[in-house]
Amino acid sequence: MPNRRLKINEAEAGHWRHRVRKSLIRTGLETLYFSGAHRMMEPFYGGVGAILMLHHVRPPRRGSFQPNRLLEITPDFLASIITFLQSAQIDIVSLDEMYRRLSEGDFSRRFVCITFDDGYRDNKTWAYPVLKKHRVPFAIYVPTSFPDRIGELWWVALEAAIAKSDRIALLVDGKGRRFDCGTVSEKRHLFSEIYRWLRKLPREDDIRYIMRDLAARYGVDVPAINEDLCMSWQEIAELAADPLVTIGAHTVNHPILAKASDEVVRSELKMGRAVVEAAIGVRPQHLAYPFGDRDAVGEREFQIAAELGFKTAVTTHAAMLFPEHRHHMTALPRISIDGEFQQGRYVRVLMSGAATAMWNGFRRGDAA
Ligand SMILES: [Zn+2]
Repeated sequence: MPNRRLKINEAEAGHWRHRVRKSLIRTGLETLYFSGAHRMMEPFYGGVGAILMLHHVRPPRRGSFQPNRLLEITPDFLASIITFLQSAQIDIVSLDEMYRRLSEGDFSRRFVCITFDDGYRDNKTWAYPVLKKHRVPFAIYVPTSFPDRIGELWWVALEAAIAKSDRIALLVDGKGRRFDCGTVSEKRHLFSEIYRWLRKLPREDDIRYIMRDLAARYGVDVPAINEDLCMSWQEIAELAADPLVTIGAHTVNHPILAKASDEVVRSELKMGRAVVEAAIGVRPQHLAYPFGDRDAVGEREFQIAAELGFKTAVTTHAAMLFPEHRHHMTALPRISIDGEFQQGRYVRVLMSGAATAMWNGFRRGDAA
């Protein structure tokens, strides 16, 4: 009898990989929570605080193909995070205050910074009212090409192209290849495969070139995505006028810095800061590296950011803050608030440091 398992096609396999990964994370978080292990681990792994990373805040959207959904949470969940932090006596502080506490070693109370990447309009529409109501400081890292309306949000364009098509033709190594994506599981699989493949291409220009071609052929209006999703300079300036708000730098073009030359890295960081300063009149002191994982940013970028005088710079490496991080101010880790896991108990586990400790093989102060 032929083994049925071998007949699982690639799309299904991808779908199951995604499900398994998600359920492993979920099981890990549930186990840490319900066993109470997170409470016992907190004194060792909880650190002095954390920087939270968010992207979109908006009501849930319809549709089962939402590969970027991990990047969004609802306004209610944001409110519940704030309420939890406040009830746990964790201070919610600005990036400047975090910098002060870290550099002065002021760890009398645990603290959290709330940060948003990319300057999405829903930050102003949905997140800001919640944050304002609770008088909570927060930061938004803005890539200047987005409010300049020349931003290429290629990961959103990829989602849009796959969402509206049953089949995608793509230039792979200069050759046209076709991929079926008629079903939701095929779409999910294709998105994650293409996303991973694009991220691994040697040059940023390759990603841009392929995505421009794809967008043109599948009628995806990239400037309209930019305009629709991202705040204008006017909107950013309105937010920046509130003392609760810190506008941080996030480069100009949102590139994968690790692929760029030293000169490009330097100019992306410098120009990203200068353009924000010119637009809103305040010079950003804090930076977030685009994508921020180990494939996107490393020692060279940490050094350049420090040389350019940024007080802090954040990655997307998941870890709590420890006193040792004062020596790594331009390589600070962050805890992603993942839209796939919008449960109060998961936030509890994350804030205990137990989950990140587990993911990091129980190393404590693993700087970036
Ligand atoms: Zn970003």
